Amino acid sequence: MRKVLNILFLVIVILILISPFILSTSTLPIAIVAGNSMYPTLQNGDLIIFKGPPTGPIPVGTIIIYVEPQIGNNFLGWLTGRIIIHRVVSVQKMNDNSYYYITKGDNNLFNDTLPVKQSNVLGIPILVIPKLGLLFLFISTPQGIIVIIGILIVYYLKEEDNRRNFERKMHKFLLLLGNEMYKGHISKDLFDKLDVDLRYAYELEEIEDKDVRKIGEWVAKTKLKDWNMSYFECDVCKKGIQFETKKLTLKICNHKVDLIDRTKR
Ligand SMILES: [Zn+2]
Repeated sequence: MRKVLNILFLVIVILILISPFILSTSTLPIAIVAGNSMYPTLQNGDLIIFKGPPTGPIPVGTIIIYVEPQIGNNFLGWLTGRIIIHRVVSVQKMNDNSYYYITKGDNNLFNDTLPVKQSNVLGIPILVIPKLGLLFLFISTPQGIIVIIGILIVYYLKEEDNRRNFERKMHKFLLLLGNEMYKGHISKDLFDKLDVDLRYAYELEEIEDKDVRKIGEWVAKTKLKDWNMSYFECDVCKKGIQFETKKLTLKICNHKVDLIDRTKR
């Protein structure tokens, strides 16, 4: 589960990073509707994904996303300037063949006062996700930042706690196996390898001994939670110890180790 989430997170980050190239925008192709000047088409807090503007003139009636006319169109403008999302109501061609747009909010009585240069247009909406922008807006407030930091701290403490718990369980497990070694259920050789490998191997692949690896696999799969221990009599060496969880059985004796997945039959 953890792995799936990590991959998903990575995919999202990569998608966000390459989105300007896919959608040919000069900024990240994301804008948040602030206010209700485009009501009911767009509402406060809607999140908009946009694509870059066409090179030619933008037709009247198109909704455009642009940075305030007095601020230039660049990444900083997108970050710091005000982003406006209004509809084109008329197009003017200038002497230098560039275009200016007169814009208006659907819900406003009057046109916007300043015409918008073609170069200030960031893009045209392709996807509107209602209200998702409110979450972004909240995150960017001081309260939102405190909440995020709080969540991160709780998450970190929880992780740290889990790690310590697991370490404690591992030490108890090794202590128990050590005792079983003295009772003759496990060979000293196997125990010594276990003691080193289970403590210091970060990945199962680092463990060479196949018996030790089976025990490592059992530890990794069960996280040492909810197991029962019992003894069994091995046909060959007459002694053995067995660990069971709901799904797995781990059998250790003096001459071999067996890991049985009881769900696979
Ligand atoms: Zn045996």
